[in-house]
Amino acid sequence: MSDTDGKKTLGLRSGSQPGHVKQSFSHGRTKSVVVETKRKRVVVPKPGEGKGGSGSGRVTGDPSRRPAGISDAELERRIQALQIAKAREAEDAARRKAEEEARAKERERRRAELEAKEREEREHQEALKAKAEEEARRAREAEEAARKSAAAADPTNAAAAQPLAEDGRGGSKPGSGSRRADREAEERRNADNKGSKGAREASGRRSGKLTLSQALNGEGGRQRSMAQMKRKQERQRQKMMGKQDREKQVREVQLPETIVVQELANRMAERVGAVVKSLMNMGMMVTQNEAIDADTAELIIEEFGHKTVRVSDADVEQVIDTVEDKPEDMEPRPPVITIMGHVDHGKTSLLDAIRNTSVVSGEAGGITQHIGAYQVTTDSGSVLTFLDTPGHAAFTSMRARGAQVTDIVVLVVAADDSVMPQTVEAINHAKAANVPMIVAINKCDKPGANPDKVRTSLLQHEIVVEKLSGDVQDVEVSAITGKGLDQLLEAIALQAEILELKANPNRAAEGAVIEAQLDVGRGPVATVLVQKGTLHQGDIFVVGEQWGKVRAMENDRGERVKEAGPSVPVEVLGLNGTPEAGDVLNVVETEAQAREIASYREQAAKDKRAAAGAATTLEQLMAKAKADKSVSELPIVVKADVQGSAEAIVQSMEKIGNDEVRVRVLHYGVGAITESDIGLAEASGAPVIGFNVRANASARNAANQKGVEIRYYSVIYDLVDDVKAAASGLLSNEIRENFIGYAEIREVFKVTGVGKVAGCLITEGVARRSAGVRLLRDNVVIHEGTLKTLKRFKDEVAEVPSGQECGMAFENYEDIRAGDVIELFTREEVVRELN
Ligand code: GDP
Repeated sequence: MSDTDGKKTLGLRSGSQPGHVKQSFSHGRTKSVVVETKRKRVVVPKPGEGKGGSGSGRVTGDPSRRPAGISDAELERRIQALQIAKAREAEDAARRKAEEEARAKERERRRAELEAKEREEREHQEALKAKAEEEARRAREAEEAARKSAAAADPTNAAAAQPLAEDGRGGSKPGSGSRRADREAEERRNADNKGSKGAREASGRRSGKLTLSQALNGEGGRQRSMAQMKRKQERQRQKMMGKQDREKQVREVQLPETIVVQELANRMAERVGAVVKSLMNMGMMVTQNEAIDADTAELIIEEFGHKTVRVSDADVEQVIDTVEDKPEDMEPRPPVITIMGHVDHGKTSLLDAIRNTSVVSGEAGGITQHIGAYQVTTDSGSVLTFLDTPGHAAFTSMRARGAQVTDIVVLVVAADDSVMPQTVEAINHAKAANVPMIVAINKCDKPGANPDKVRTSLLQHEIVVEKLSGDVQDVEVSAITGKGLDQLLEAIALQAEILELKANPNRAAEGAVIEAQLDVGRGPVATVLVQKGTLHQGDIFVVGEQWGKVRAMENDRGERVKEAGPSVPVEVLGLNGTPEAGDVLNVVETEAQAREIASYREQAAKDKRAAAGAATTLEQLMAKAKADKSVSELPIVVKADVQGSAEAIVQSMEKIGNDEVRVRVLHYGVGAITESDIGLAEASGAPVIGFNVRANASARNAANQKGVEIRYYSVIYDLVDDVKAAASGLLSNEIRENFIGYAEIREVFKVTGVGKVAGCLITEGVARRSAGVRLLRDNVVIHEGTLKTLKRFKDEVAEVPSGQECGMAFENYEDIRAGDVIELFTREEVVRELN
């Protein structure tokens, strides 16, 4: 075989490449040299030539070219190895080439695919566009037709439609002009589109493919496009009417009698902005934090396409957690104790003595704060909470407001005085409230003390003390010497144990207001006795008609605390107004809820007062009094600086009157006179009495507008005398006060020889040297007196007009601060007239 191969190759070589024959080589083997040259070409994978190569193997064995020392066998082996390597190389190259080709093919295929896809997409788009245009044209035609028929039916309409026609070519084709205009517009649009998509359109048409959209665009799609068109028109009409066109969930909106806008939006799951906007469209300018009435809210709810579910007013209070606590959650809590008894039997002394025993030596110098309640720890480790307001007035007023705070009553009876009228009253109150009692027989240190007399006297009132084999504990004490105090505390602790007082500390807090006042500088503060749960700093709460967020809390030792559990009294800061003693505090989840409840309660209280007042406005009363000369009433609204004076005023007011005339206090409260007070007074034709407080600016304006009289007093007797005189119709001439100006203190200087001088700006009216002055801090009167000096640039002057600066100093008064306001007034005698 190698022979035939060899011959064939030789023949070929000699014929094809004679120039490569090297004749100088040894005879007979010359041609094989040529074959060797050829052998290189064997690399090309051609089987015939490869074989030729193998034939040339022998030729290479030319001993003249062979390196020295290599045998024939070795040479053969090497040649073979070389050939194998070359063949492998050739194979690799072939494979790479094949792979390359395959990849190129794949790329080509993908490109083709993408192009096809793009083309399809374009076709689809074009089809859609064409469809939309077709629809638009159809709609226009339909409209035209409708208009035409309407015009034909109603000649007045036809006349109206006629001007639309461009050329007015007779009433039979009233819409032709506009239709042509439409077509022209469409053509223009088409022409515009063509520039960019003409080529694509053409290719689309050429492709001849039937896409889904094209198929839908056919005859079957026509019916659908009409319906779509109608829907579109409907949507547009709704949009024009301001309606929302998106599909929405219809909600049932719980609607109380008033609702804060934000809460309304929440309940409808709509944006607050949208709700405020639609309220504005209705002519109501409200913010998201304001409350609106149910009727308005219902309109809004309907407008947004929801359903209204009217709920009773009181339902807003339902967010307050009223769930009964489970027995396993309950934990023991300290008892709350009130001390009651006859005046001067030593209630205050006893409270102080108990408090002092609890103050450990280290704290002796510490500040003890009277916040209305305090806690003591007995020697045996029991914690007791004492209410710091002795007497049954506080006890009953709290109960009247629904706050049953007291767990145990300590009845103080002086051993030298025995049972007195108020002792009996106290016993009755405790019994009515179903609160257990402990008798503290006080003043046992006194020589004339007779504790047994006290015990026996109590028997008359069904109080059988332990010493007389009864079940009421009795302890002999002395507030002065401190005797028996420990026994008293232990007796209380024992009683508390019997009562098994428990509360769940892990829930939203509930508590009762023990005391509340408007503090200069700190704003409204309230002492709250937590009854259930734990009150935390930052909690949002509603308390009576007020709400707030716990900004800070202080305990009875004046220390800042972050939380207060059951039976712990704390002073709470962060209220929006001053609540009243006995108001219940409830923690709620959101500010909106707190606001809503507070505004509901305020409204309810207002309605109640208005309902009571409406029947007896002054005019009506006067008319009635004139008609039948029977009982007449004088309604008043009272605002005072502290709860105590407000209550004192109310009490003295209620005492005024005889068979013909009575004073009725519509409302009383603590703090500056506000717009709502003016509103109430106006509704009932009542004057507003400010006791050591002033009206704020908006209230002053409202009073001026509505003609409501505001009277300021600093002495209760003056007020009582005035009201008495007014009520009994004895309107005599009186000394009346006229307001002449306000000055704001900008800076306070110390001048030697004069004392503190206030650098002021006259903000209203004038300042007069001779005028009476009052110093106001946060609209509360702090001082009343006369001026020592009134200076303008070092000169003493008689008067300083509004807008100018001056220096003022008070006679015998130094506590002035920047930011205070000086009120200036004169007194004059006027003929008295009540409203
Ligand atoms: P309240 O009106 O019940 O609060 O009685 P007070 O605490 O104001 O006390 C009236 C008067 O009784 C005061 O002068 C006290 O000093 C005095 N007093 C109170 N407790 C005792 C006591 O245990 N012994 C004596 N000797 N005097 C007392």
